[in-house]
Amino acid sequence: MSNYTERVLKMVKDRNPGEVEFHQAVEEVLESLNPVFEKHPEYEENGILERLVEPERQIIFRVPWVDDQGQTQVNRGFRIEFNSALGPYKGGLRFHPSVYTGIVKFLGFEQIFKNALTGRPIGGGKGGSDFDPKGKSDQEVMRFCQSFMTELARHIGDKTDVPAGDIGVGGREIGYLFGQYKRIKNRYEAGVLTGKGLDWGGSLVRTEATGYGLVYILEEMLKENDLSLNDKKVVISGSGNVAIYANEKVTQLGAKVVAMSDSSGYLYDETGIDLELIKEIKEVNRGRIKEYLEEYPEAEYSEDYSDIWSIDCDIALPCATQNEMDAVGAQKLIDNGVIAIGEGANMPLTSDAVKLVKDNGVFFIPGKAANAGGVATSAIEMTQNAMFDEWTFDKVDQELQKIMVNIYKNASKVAAKYGLKGDLAAGANIAGFLKVANAMLDQGVV
Ligand code: GLU
Repeated sequence: MSNYTERVLKMVKDRNPGEVEFHQAVEEVLESLNPVFEKHPEYEENGILERLVEPERQIIFRVPWVDDQGQTQVNRGFRIEFNSALGPYKGGLRFHPSVYTGIVKFLGFEQIFKNALTGRPIGGGKGGSDFDPKGKSDQEVMRFCQSFMTELARHIGDKTDVPAGDIGVGGREIGYLFGQYKRIKNRYEAGVLTGKGLDWGGSLVRTEATGYGLVYILEEMLKENDLSLNDKKVVISGSGNVAIYANEKVTQLGAKVVAMSDSSGYLYDETGIDLELIKEIKEVNRGRIKEYLEEYPEAEYSEDYSDIWSIDCDIALPCATQNEMDAVGAQKLIDNGVIAIGEGANMPLTSDAVKLVKDNGVFFIPGKAANAGGVATSAIEMTQNAMFDEWTFDKVDQELQKIMVNIYKNASKVAAKYGLKGDLAAGANIAGFLKVANAMLDQGVV
């Protein structure tokens, strides 16, 4: 690393002790920016990096609620408004017991560059809570969401900060959050949240968007290298929204998904996973992936979910959570001849895994580019809300495809320009950085 990036990374580590995921996300971006600072001293002269790594605003709040037994529960709520150079803060809310400042900051930091890559006017932010929706009743989830929004409402707005879903936050939670926001503000401000229901301001394709977008960019990359998805064997970790719709699109395009997982274990079905059954288990019943065996007893199930990467495949799509693939997992994929890895989740590969994958010539699409389809379609939802309009499925889907192809083209062009041809991760970091940094330069020291 150059002096500048090294100095800023050290400052981040000193100033944010213990926030290891945030350190990892910052290091990954800063490492690729050295060629930029060599060419452009103005960024260092204007303290762009020092400002970029410090969130504009961090909100931490108490979320009290009463459970079904009448007991008072207290969770911690977060909203980190990281960067508004390109537009209102934009990014999801994550409800998961692992959520703390380090996770929200890593996600918010990633979101700045991801959102810049979409080409839409959205800044970066993220939020959430250590609340665990697993095993909670509908009523408990509703009371929690109402309490969470009672505080959050004063900080957000359709031109200020626009939250959406992430792990543990889907259509149900967005509904409860929106209802409470409307009640507090007495305003039908549709564009204050995205991922809304289709009858009340939501956009077609938003549910499918992250998974579909991942496959669109993957397809583009394969096409550019004279390859295709046809007859490829695919392993997808996770079985949430991203994993399900990545499976759907990759299958439509001729590939076969042989494995999926949840936080209890993974499923291997060599004849191809029955996606309709997974949807029923996960989307309708909120159940465990293991229940698949009740209908397909010949499928295999293992509780060692991280071992999913030992399955022989052409393409691996980690769509579960951060750091789910380490160097051991990556090495197994490489030994089995994997061609491409696309990050459906945010930062699913550890730094060691990324290095190994790159060193072994595996095509790698980083999360900032690969999973940007979700937030891009959120921006399309905001556009429709602002226009008082509703677009057709095809119109939104075509727009999403265009955005994903552009992200691929832009990241590969920028990588080549900086002497890093084929390194999409560096290309995505540099392209995202340049857009945000130039806006920050234009807007002065703020
Ligand atoms: N949580 C998603 C992400 O990681 C979507 C955010 C949004 O739609 O605002 O990008």
